[in-house]
Amino acid sequence: MDQRFDVTERFADGAQYIAGRLREGGSEGTHAVVDPATGEQVFGYRLAGAADVDTAVAAAGAAFPEWAGATPGERSDAMHRFAAALTERADDLAHAESLQCGKPIKLSTEFDVPGSIDNTAFFAGAARHLEGKAAAEYSGDHTSYIRREPIGVIGSIAPWNYPLQMAAWKVLPAIAAGNTIVLKPAELTPLTSLMFAQAATEAGLPDGVVNVVSGTGREAGERLVAHPGVAMTSFTGSTAVGKRVAELATATVKRIHLELGGKAPFVVFDDADLEAAAHGAVAGALINSGQDCTAATRAYVQRPLYDAFVAAVADLMETVRLGDPFDPHTDLGPLISHAQRDRVAGFVERARGYATVVTGGEAPGGDLAKGAYYRPTLITGAPQDSEVVQSEIFGPVLVVLPFDGDDEGIALANDTPYGLAASAWSRDVYRTGRASREIRAGCVWINDHIPIISEMPHGGVRASGFGKDMSAYSFDEYTQVKHVMFDNTAVVRKDWHRTVFGDRQT
Ligand code: NAD
Repeated sequence: MDQRFDVTERFADGAQYIAGRLREGGSEGTHAVVDPATGEQVFGYRLAGAADVDTAVAAAGAAFPEWAGATPGERSDAMHRFAAALTERADDLAHAESLQCGKPIKLSTEFDVPGSIDNTAFFAGAARHLEGKAAAEYSGDHTSYIRREPIGVIGSIAPWNYPLQMAAWKVLPAIAAGNTIVLKPAELTPLTSLMFAQAATEAGLPDGVVNVVSGTGREAGERLVAHPGVAMTSFTGSTAVGKRVAELATATVKRIHLELGGKAPFVVFDDADLEAAAHGAVAGALINSGQDCTAATRAYVQRPLYDAFVAAVADLMETVRLGDPFDPHTDLGPLISHAQRDRVAGFVERARGYATVVTGGEAPGGDLAKGAYYRPTLITGAPQDSEVVQSEIFGPVLVVLPFDGDDEGIALANDTPYGLAASAWSRDVYRTGRASREIRAGCVWINDHIPIISEMPHGGVRASGFGKDMSAYSFDEYTQVKHVMFDNTAVVRKDWHRTVFGDRQT
């Protein structure tokens, strides 16, 4: 284990960040952050209890009037300093992310951390472009205009797969729009969310604007969602937990933003560049050990290319280097935990009964046996209604199936409950154009799979939820629209009053 800094010392004051400082949690329970590459504990902390959530919500509520009242320019300046503070901590953030998640250091260094910093810089700029609709005299006698106002205290809940990026996606649009926030990261991975919040304070954001409660879903999460002082719930995680969160939030009439699971199709038409598609499928399926809500999970390949595609993907998967996340040459780290590895292995073992495991399908031995590693796995011959095709596995597993006509390829792509992301591969602009229109997903890539960018929205449809992260569209989630209507006539007895009393004046 490569430690750039001593985690225990860094978080000696606790793993709750409330009103600008670290504190111990007040729950009875504790949690061990484990390095999944070794199975060793790297940090132990006391979890947040209900009282910690209450304190954090109160801190966010107290900070709201000043932050909401700041000018867009003031918020923007603070967020530019925030981006600079994150840039100064980039190496520490990358190391902490790799340590707690087992991510290859090249992924943390080249994707998670710069992506989060770029998001911060984007929202620093976007804070100055928060606009309502243009004013006009729609009635003839009044001037109407639209105010986009912050909502209040946002309660956000995030998953463990991209802890830093999820903190960024949740926190940044919310605070850029003038809200304050309490973020609950997954209890497995609190470190980079805490460092993110510390950087906000270091950059001069007022205490209480960004708070972090590190606790379990049942204890801290449910309290945050149900809290009367929280005006909106923003959740990223599994569809099953999202349903529970929606129930709780609805009971207290909160605005809800849900980013849920995915099962992204990868559709390869018979005129596609086979080599590009095979490389894209392997990278798209294995990024972050497949623990990516948009990962390529189901490749549908038109019959003439099918055999060659399967062979190329199997060959490429065998070249992927599993190893120590801190080795710069490691391509694939462990999964987040041994429990997640066993869950993934369970899907593959059951699939042996009805499908073919072409490559992978096992945990590596030797030096890696202690870690939560699993080999890149390719499955063929699975029925469309089988669980490896329909359910989110969240591991380094790609299922490949053939199709004949274009209609069939698109229909199969749409045949799961999810709708987060998809890709279509072809040299024919009309085929890809059709796929982009007809595949039901929040994002459709053409001849690529995975890239995201701060300016463009991320979010799903159907069982993948609703709401958008990143981009100016996320302001639709984190602002409320107010109509202001000015009378321009100064007439005392207005014509419309006759509908309530009296007749038209002649
Ligand atoms: P999860 O649903 O188990 O947990 C997500 C978060 O919810 C965690 O912080 C957890 O502590 C909390 N939680 C659990 N039970 C809760 C409850 N009853 N009330 C309130 N909070 C509760 O998900 P996970 O295993 O951490 O992450 C993987 C899932 O996240 C996958 O389904 C993946 O597709 C999804 N995901 C989606 C996106 C997206 O943008 N759509 C992005 C990343 C991950």
